[in-house]
Amino acid sequence: MHDFKACIERRNNMSSGKLKSRTLRRVKKVTPGHNVVTHYKPRKPSKAKCAKCGAVLQGVANERPYKMQNMPKTKKRPERPFGGVLCSRCSRAAIKAEAKNNKE
Ligand SMILES: [Zn+2]
Repeated sequence: MHDFKACIERRNNMSSGKLKSRTLRRVKKVTPGHNVVTHYKPRKPSKAKCAKCGAVLQGVANERPYKMQNMPKTKKRPERPFGGVLCSRCSRAAIKAEAKNNKE
């Protein structure tokens, strides 16, 4: 394989002005002929955060709306109470608190 880094740099230098800004993210793709090319794609939306503690939620997809439309519901958030709203720690505490209230 030839020198990747030089190849990418040369390609970047040749790219037009709008591609030099970091508005678009760079995705490296390998073509069928084993060349590495840079694709410019819109950035993904920010990751979902826990409503209580602000931790990044696991198992929640962050894609552009056109991809979210065709994505199954089960891939968008965990299937449990407070899934996609609270993190696992906070939801566990919330469920425990609810059970305690119901007992009394
Ligand atoms: Zn939390």
